[in-house]
Amino acid sequence: MEKRFFNIEIFRREMGPLQTNAYIVSTGKVCMVIDPGFPKESVELAEYILERRLEVEYIIATHGHFDHVLGVDKFRERLGYKPKFYIHIDDLSLLATAGDALNRFFGVYVKPPKPDAYLYGGEKFTLNGVVFEIIHTPGHTRGSICIYIESEKIMFTGDTLFRGSIGRYDFPESDENLMRKSLQRIANMDPEIRIFPGHGNESTLNNELEFNGPLRDMLGLIP
Ligand SMILES: [Zn+2]
Repeated sequence: MEKRFFNIEIFRREMGPLQTNAYIVSTGKVCMVIDPGFPKESVELAEYILERRLEVEYIIATHGHFDHVLGVDKFRERLGYKPKFYIHIDDLSLLATAGDALNRFFGVYVKPPKPDAYLYGGEKFTLNGVVFEIIHTPGHTRGSICIYIESEKIMFTGDTLFRGSIGRYDFPESDENLMRKSLQRIANMDPEIRIFPGHGNESTLNNELEFNGPLRDMLGLIP
């Protein structure tokens, strides 16, 4: 699925048994890849990029859950060069055990990728003049982030905010209070922002504030 905006183009590919969304966000001939989560589909994602002669500048994980990170190595292998892989520092232990988690659920082991650099929140990545800002939104996991492109009013929300739902916060690596704070922070942003979640379809912040029951409950909005 391809979508064109004024300055960027977004390609979404669902990956693996949990239908995790990987995104290619391109501006001109350069792109950022978000959450290449499973080896097989990540190879196909790399082929898509090679066919279009795009150059990958950054690979960013929205958090350390296995379905968002385990395709990184195969993706880079097929690509034939090694763009840097970034993840928030608070999800490093989760990343390190991602292969074991996959094994627990699906009986297959994949060695987790090693990050090249850590995120802390507040970083700004530039692609062809378009600025991508990292917003730390802990809750689903300690190191969950959103990636915000202010000039396009677009945000990749990982497993923090979905269309019609919010991310789980009952894992040992989750924190309900942090989740509430992060969702509140998102809710205070421009309601026109279009959100592209880690699973499922895109939406707008406005739409979610109005119709997303779990989000409204979490924020204490009156029905
Ligand atoms: Zn997750």
